[in-house]
Amino acid sequence: MKPHCSNCQSEKLIPNVKIIDFTHMNIKSNLKLEIVETSDNQFKVSKTESIIGNICGECGHVDLHVDNFQALWEFYLKNKK
Ligand SMILES: [Zn+2]
Repeated sequence: MKPHCSNCQSEKLIPNVKIIDFTHMNIKSNLKLEIVETSDNQFKVSKTESIIGNICGECGHVDLHVDNFQALWEFYLKNKK
């Protein structure tokens, strides 16, 4: 099945659009998700990944995902309490 909008099922997608945030001094940065857990030695550990959007050219709906989700999942399993 071809990639499609989860709202209207259209295949008119603009894929892999980065979501930009402006950090200190107006420097562009990709918006990210951060997972924070407490490690075995009680330090906080975290991992971040950029959020990617697919924009629907039919209805404007945006589907979000992260590319490196396997690494996030493994980090979560390894560090969750
Ligand atoms: Zn749509």
